[in-house]
Amino acid sequence: MRKYAGLCLLLACALQAQDEIAHAQRLKSSLLGIDTHIDTIQRVLVGHLDLGQRLPDGQIDLPRLQEGGMHAPFFALWVPTYFKGAEAVRRTLDLRDAMQSVFDRYPDRIQLATSGADLERIVKSGKIAAVLTLEGGHQIADDLAVLRMYHRLGIRSMTLTHFRNNNWADSSTDKPRHNGLTDFGKEVVREMNRIGMMVDISHVSDKTFYDTLAVTTKPVIASHSSCRVLAEIPRNMTDDMLKALARNGGVVGINFGGGFLNPRDARATMANINQMAAQEPDLVGKPLDDYAANEYARQNWARPRPSAATIDDVVAHIDHVVKVAGIDHVGIGTDFDGIPDVPKGLEDVSKMPALVAALLKHGYSDQDIQKIMGGNFLRVMKQVIGK
Ligand SMILES: [Zn+2]
Repeated sequence: MRKYAGLCLLLACALQAQDEIAHAQRLKSSLLGIDTHIDTIQRVLVGHLDLGQRLPDGQIDLPRLQEGGMHAPFFALWVPTYFKGAEAVRRTLDLRDAMQSVFDRYPDRIQLATSGADLERIVKSGKIAAVLTLEGGHQIADDLAVLRMYHRLGIRSMTLTHFRNNNWADSSTDKPRHNGLTDFGKEVVREMNRIGMMVDISHVSDKTFYDTLAVTTKPVIASHSSCRVLAEIPRNMTDDMLKALARNGGVVGINFGGGFLNPRDARATMANINQMAAQEPDLVGKPLDDYAANEYARQNWARPRPSAATIDDVVAHIDHVVKVAGIDHVGIGTDFDGIPDVPKGLEDVSKMPALVAALLKHGYSDQDIQKIMGGNFLRVMKQVIGK
């Protein structure tokens, strides 16, 4: 009898596991996956890589985006802060051109999305919907007309700073210079609200964050930040900031970098950030581009170093935001192709179904998971852009 009871238990377990897999697969096919920060376009501009192929390294390409169900990535046109003034504008246009080369080469596989409705339509047609973002307010060269022209080029969000302060906003990884946002910085936020561009507060100092919330009339996003109480780096958000973000109606995308997820990797990440931020060569034109290419090769993001972080850490950060700010204010902002350390179990975008399965196992409902994997960010896009 005991033998039969054991067999029955085994059978029940196997059936339950099969049920769980079927449930996860059903859910995955109904999800609209939005990732609010990837650095992949650097690989196209600097490395001339073909995103249409399944690449042997890095974390993103078109086949793996489809496989992972992340149909709407935000491609960051990141410009290092040592590109100053007109050079930062030139570099932004170079990145926008690299992005265009991908759209032109694969019109049947990827398309520019400039609104929430656009994004939904493109994903429904089976293509990847690419949302374009700027990473660093210095890219507007202190000129609102440049900001407006970026919007005309289809760009729909901007982090107010990168690793260094700019002329109108303090960064979380620099010494405070303006005590948050200057008057012009506040004008930038108002203009972004007016033209329908999402204000991204990842990278800004705590004071810049609170100044931004005092000015903005629209929800803001933190495209790639995690929780500071779990990994103590200034790029992550405190509980108080998470609560303020919730009151604003905004959403934070959890960053998958090991340094953003656990205290052990956080130290190495801060050392790397400080080193990157300290280097500011005084170059222009081709010598500046060559310097950037060498720096990019030296960082070698395509081959991440080992990390202590795991998929459980990602779930723990999601849990924490849900506990402090609520289910409507958390999303995914991996920072893939821009982090030196990826979590075990989520080594590239093709592994995202494992996160969906982990969230199901953790007790989240289908509706909760839809919000986390993209629904919350889609809501903010519609609120800010207007359709
Ligand atoms: Zn970043």
